[in-house]
Amino acid sequence: MLSIPHSRPTLGEEELQAIAPVLRSGFIAQGAQVATFEAELAKRLGVRGGVATSSGTAALHLALLALGIGRGDEVLLPSYASSALLHAVWAAHATPRPVDCDPRSFNLDPEAAKRACSPRAKALIVVHSFGLPAELEDLQPLGLPLIEAAAQALGASFKGKPVGSFGEAAVFSFYATKLITTGEGGMLLSNDERVLAAGRDLRAYDQKEDALPRLNYKMTDLEAALGLAQLKKLPQFLRRRDEIATRYRERLSALPLEQPLRFPGRIFYRYVVKGPGRADPSLARLQALGVEARRPVFRPLHRYLGLEGFPGAEEAWERAVSLPLYPSLSDEEAEQVIRTAWEVFG
Ligand SMILES: *Cc1c(COP(=O)(O)O)cnc(C)c1O
Repeated sequence: MLSIPHSRPTLGEEELQAIAPVLRSGFIAQGAQVATFEAELAKRLGVRGGVATSSGTAALHLALLALGIGRGDEVLLPSYASSALLHAVWAAHATPRPVDCDPRSFNLDPEAAKRACSPRAKALIVVHSFGLPAELEDLQPLGLPLIEAAAQALGASFKGKPVGSFGEAAVFSFYATKLITTGEGGMLLSNDERVLAAGRDLRAYDQKEDALPRLNYKMTDLEAALGLAQLKKLPQFLRRRDEIATRYRERLSALPLEQPLRFPGRIFYRYVVKGPGRADPSLARLQALGVEARRPVFRPLHRYLGLEGFPGAEEAWERAVSLPLYPSLSDEEAEQVIRTAWEVFG
């Protein structure tokens, strides 16, 4: 029996047709396709513009630099999140300051963020974990520039407004298994022309008059063509994800599992449940029965920094189990996930 992967990109003939003319044209580095991809995503979010990059981490690094964050500055970030956040803050020579999460929503706890706020805090990175919008209204009064790490919530909205349009900057990733993919890739988006201009300038080193340090974080036209084809499919991707999530909820709700929170405007990037005990034994049994479930966060960030006192992030990390959920997951595969979940948790 073939096991069901935890994640997998959803690609088709349209993607091949989108990249073939770019390849034939010979213009394969950053060019017109990148500009179109930036404009299309900015339009979709209702923001001024975008700066496409080689990865989400690169976009996050650019966002910090564009906001003037550097040595001596603290950046608040959720502890229960991708370590990409930590690396971007380190790359900017700033100091990461993890904040505990609400183990029910998996998102940043606004009260904990308030407590972590010091005069040295210069920005807050917020993640919309697994597609659930963070408590944006409770975070804005902190008065810190907000960077939305929105990679897991493309297409989600908070009170009717697209996620990714709230902060001073938003960052997306188009890694192979994100909501849409370019293989590797990312984008910084903002309403602030100065942030966009700084991002564009710092993204490329060539033909500069001054001697400021810059990077090579550019996206290629081949990747952008792929991204444009994927962006067209985003509505159908989100519908299919929602369909599978609804099926899981209906069929798994009798199990002793905490189901993902429902919230208007949320989308389903991951279907994350919490069992009564530690995730490890359940993960091993799911795996042995042919379902690749995962811990959705590899390790909470406070642990990398040797810090203690993050009970919410610890609970989320110990208990969370992410079940396979992606548009190319078939109905039969979803049924196999459900049957297997009953064997393990029933
Ligand atoms: C995937 C992801 C990143 C990192 O993006 P890469 O393209 O892998 O560098 C950062 N933040 C969040 C919330 C992500 O989901």
